[in-house]
Amino acid sequence: MRTALKSHMKRLIAGLGLVLLAASLGSCGSTQSPPPPSSGPVKTTNNAAYRTPALHGPVPRNPNMSLRADFAQGPRLSFSRVAVRDKYIAITFDDGPHPQNTPRLLDMLRARNIKATFYVVGSNVDAYPQVLRRVVAEGHEIGNHSYTHRLFSKMSDADIRQELARTRDAVVRATGVQPRTLRPPFGGMLPRQREWVNAEFAYPIILWSVDPFDWKRPGPNVVCSRILSATTAGSIVLAHDLHRQTVDAMPATLDGLLQRGFKFVTVSQLLAMQAESATAPAAAEMAAH
Ligand SMILES: [Zn+2]
Repeated sequence: MRTALKSHMKRLIAGLGLVLLAASLGSCGSTQSPPPPSSGPVKTTNNAAYRTPALHGPVPRNPNMSLRADFAQGPRLSFSRVAVRDKYIAITFDDGPHPQNTPRLLDMLRARNIKATFYVVGSNVDAYPQVLRRVVAEGHEIGNHSYTHRLFSKMSDADIRQELARTRDAVVRATGVQPRTLRPPFGGMLPRQREWVNAEFAYPIILWSVDPFDWKRPGPNVVCSRILSATTAGSIVLAHDLHRQTVDAMPATLDGLLQRGFKFVTVSQLLAMQAESATAPAAAEMAAH
């Protein structure tokens, strides 16, 4: 009887160890999302039901790094990932700023010492310039994501030029800094458009290599597990700070990536690394699509 009990206890302890190991690597279900504000107003600009969950204990931190961000314009115009020599990644948030979700996300990023890149829509910049000022004040990078979020491949050159200039001007007005790179809405841009836009605005065109389809709102755990399973060194991760679920997914996602040894940099920093290693034959970046 005693031996049977002992071996049963051993199995229990071994099982517990596995659970603890899994928890220490970061799992997508480990962070509870705040309950949806079902009883309160949803479409107000000042919804007190949205609160960043309190941090319970220390969270993993992105290391302090002093990295170049002055990428050189090379022959390649667009990037969906960058070849790097270490586990560097860039996480990007599109379609904001949003008055509630972006500040919540900024709290999460600040707690982890992570700098992200925000591809902002100009009309939202004009609506919430104070949110964008905080984004810049906390060291994040801004990219141009057009003014009205229409598909460039079906637009005239004049309309595209106006979309990009209006957004650039809105960002400069709000923050005093220029967008560094461009992400076309839906990733849709013709090769000819890439060429003249790059020549006129000096924007590299930034696509992505990790797409959790968070805009379809599959739930925070699915967003998290898709990002954790697809991210590799040099990845550019796509997400949207417009959606509450995406921001709900971020504590577990960011912690999971940090615990796997990834180091977060901005898109410009990632591009500067590509330029540094461009002479090595193994460092050719993957073709963007
Ligand atoms: Zn977008």
